[in-house]
Amino acid sequence: MTNPKKNSIHADITARLQAASQPLLLSHIRPDGDALASLVGMGLALQAAGKSCQLVLSDGVPSKFRFLSWSEQIRTQIQPGYDLIVALDCSDRQRLGSSFSDLPIDINIDHHITNEHFAALNLVLPQSAATAAILAQFLPLWGFPLDAQSSNALLMGILTDTIGFRTSNVSAHTLRQAARLLENGAHLSDLYERALVNQSFASCRLWGLALNRLQKKGCLAWTSITLQDRKQAGYSGRDDADLTNVLSAIENIDISLLFNEQKDRTIKVSWRSGAEMDVSKISQRFGGGGHPPAAGAEISGSLEEVEEMVLKATSEYVQEKKAQGENEHGK
Ligand code: AMP
Ligand code: MN
Ligand code: MN
Repeated sequence: MTNPKKNSIHADITARLQAASQPLLLSHIRPDGDALASLVGMGLALQAAGKSCQLVLSDGVPSKFRFLSWSEQIRTQIQPGYDLIVALDCSDRQRLGSSFSDLPIDINIDHHITNEHFAALNLVLPQSAATAAILAQFLPLWGFPLDAQSSNALLMGILTDTIGFRTSNVSAHTLRQAARLLENGAHLSDLYERALVNQSFASCRLWGLALNRLQKKGCLAWTSITLQDRKQAGYSGRDDADLTNVLSAIENIDISLLFNEQKDRTIKVSWRSGAEMDVSKISQRFGGGGHPPAAGAEISGSLEEVEEMVLKATSEYVQEKKAQGENEHGK
């Protein structure tokens, strides 16, 4: 395990955090459980050390995560008076949201392999299962102990980013960190139920409409969520209502994709894959990013255009990858 005292990035982060009295914590647009949990978990730990924190998400808190205590502290606008800016779980500046993308970021803590190291201090650990896992490991070592509430928030981040500890990057280390959070007083079964299992009636209706158009060709499976689907289902969010988690459960496919139509003639594409494929490589070709098993991109165009272009690039990638595998086996 890294010894933060010997490692200058940890010494630098510790010094900056200790010196700040009004830190501003930010994360990415369309926030997921890890974005929110990282903000709340770190915010609570800093607050307990006497700091006055601002927590800001440009898209606010999705309704399904509003049960998390202290999430009500999160605002959508920045107030003046901060003396340190920390970006959490965010791979590039644009993902902070258009009004925040020019801010001078002091500390960037993240686990995306595609992170652009855009801050003065960058702690990017792609082998970590979640940004919340990085914080669970290092906040106490930086001098910010975790109590029951901050531990509970951080466990939610690990739980949601690993879809209940089932992604390929979950290691013994991840489970040990989760165990430590439980020892601190986090509530695993409650979080599991509320953050992963429970779905609103509107989400389930949205799944039904989208799954009705589910398609499969070779080892790819995909579907879309249209603006019309959202209206018909009564689903107000612009996220995927966790449908990507459902698609990732389909067996005998290499990659699942979701095309999520947005208001501004862009399509949010999500890729999910098993251990063999690295979908972050495909998403980067379209200006996006993510992790080897889960990646996304925002692409301009109509649903039909984007579907055609992305399915072509994805199936070419799968063919190349399989040909490479066959060559390596043949050697
Ligand atoms: P999603 O499909 O939105 O659930 O995202 C899957 C993973 O890819 C998450 O870790 C996201 O943070 C990341 N991701 C999604 N969209 C983008 C994007 N446009 N740019 C960079 N990373 C992204
Ligand atoms: Mn995230
Ligand atoms: Mn994450």
